[in-house]
Amino acid sequence: MTARIVIIGGGQAGGWAAKTLRDEGYDGEICVVAEEEWDFYERPPLSKAALLEADASLPRLFSEEMQQGLNLKWYRPLRAEQIDSTAKTVRLSNGEHLAWDKLLIATGGRARLPNQDWAKHPQVYTLRHWQDAQRLKARLASSKSLAIVGGGWIGLEIAASARKSGVAVTLFEQQPALCLRSVSSEVSLALRQLHSDQGVDIRCGCGALELEDNGGQPVIHCDGKRETFEAIVVGIGVDLNLELACGAGLTLEQGIVVDAQGRTSSPDIFAAGDVAQHHRYGLCIQSWAFAQNQAVATAKAMLDDAAPGYEEVPWLWSDQYDRNIQILGIPQAQSRTIVRKDPQGMLFFSLNADGRLNQLVAFNDARTVKLAKRWMAAGRDLSDVPLADPTFSLMSLR
Ligand SMILES: Cc1cc2nc3c(=O)[nH]c(=O)nc-3n(C[C@H](O)[C@H](O)[C@H](O)COP(=O)(O)OP(=O)(O)OC[C@H]3O[C@@H](n4cnc5c(N)ncnc54)[C@H](O)[C@@H]3O)c2cc1C
Repeated sequence: MTARIVIIGGGQAGGWAAKTLRDEGYDGEICVVAEEEWDFYERPPLSKAALLEADASLPRLFSEEMQQGLNLKWYRPLRAEQIDSTAKTVRLSNGEHLAWDKLLIATGGRARLPNQDWAKHPQVYTLRHWQDAQRLKARLASSKSLAIVGGGWIGLEIAASARKSGVAVTLFEQQPALCLRSVSSEVSLALRQLHSDQGVDIRCGCGALELEDNGGQPVIHCDGKRETFEAIVVGIGVDLNLELACGAGLTLEQGIVVDAQGRTSSPDIFAAGDVAQHHRYGLCIQSWAFAQNQAVATAKAMLDDAAPGYEEVPWLWSDQYDRNIQILGIPQAQSRTIVRKDPQGMLFFSLNADGRLNQLVAFNDARTVKLAKRWMAAGRDLSDVPLADPTFSLMSLR
């Protein structure tokens, strides 16, 4: 009988794990060690509604009443500093040692910065936590110009929110195209067009940037040219919080290596969310859906060895201007992309040589994404399907 489960991390994966443990009937002690002072909340609104709405409130995962009902013992704001997997304890930043029977690591990641100069400059912003969003919103309200460093999903969402707030945006991306690691070049081009149409000045392939200071204002030095901005937001990815797992001797690759049930290489230690590497794709997916659903599967497995594992295809979404963009699957090298333009949106199908879909990116078309999940699960050969033809009904393939 498991008497005490400790969850490290009070984010989305930690929250869904705690809720699932209770939903599954676990009535032992659940301790949550959380560095942040807030109740469980989700991060996607931080780059969207939280920047745009004057009175946006903490995007709580659960209502206050529901969270009370989970009967959790919080240790916050405190950091877990070391895991002893033999003694089965975790040391907290207040010196306390917390014993556990089963442990879940759900520590997420932190926003990456190029170096300490960027970290120290008061007008350089990142966006990971609720306070970051508050700070950035206040800055946007008093800014006319903003530089964004990083043309990935977070950078693009911040660009869209800034443009909606009337702020001029210059976006620097080191790579030759936007979101290069996660989508095909056809999708990158469509993203570039979308943002250019909204007036974003996009500088792809800009190489390494240097930060300078001009009387408190940040200056970007790029290709011999110096430009001063009122503020800079850096969105160049995330460093996963893997130190605890590393110290505990867990097997690590891109993230913590787990099986389909979220088990790490150490008995009774599990991992969920951004830090857990997808057991099939060998990548850390870093999406809302993975943080929730993989944590749910892991929590079930913490109570029942025979619980079914997590088998979902990676899926994430991004909202930019009036586009809801959904990304299903991971693009593979050598795949060919077929573009379909409908009156309501755009679809980008990336197919393997055998005609199987490895990724679908949909602009304003959630229905086709649902259908594509079934094609992927069935390994359907789409080679002979006129995917690019907008008069051909994709729904006829149901
Ligand atoms: C601005 C933003 C927008 C996003 N938008 C989207 C989107 O549109 N679509 C999408 O699919 N995904 C989106 N994501 C990604 C998604 O939010 C993350 O994948 C998800 O939050 C991961 O959940 P997690 O619980 O693994 O990590 P987190 O949510 O980061 O939670 C981890 C928690 O652990 C705490 N912690 C870390 N170390 C310790 C320690 N040693 N001791 C105690 N506590 C610790 C951290 O402070 C944090 O509170 C977005 C992310 C951000 C930041």
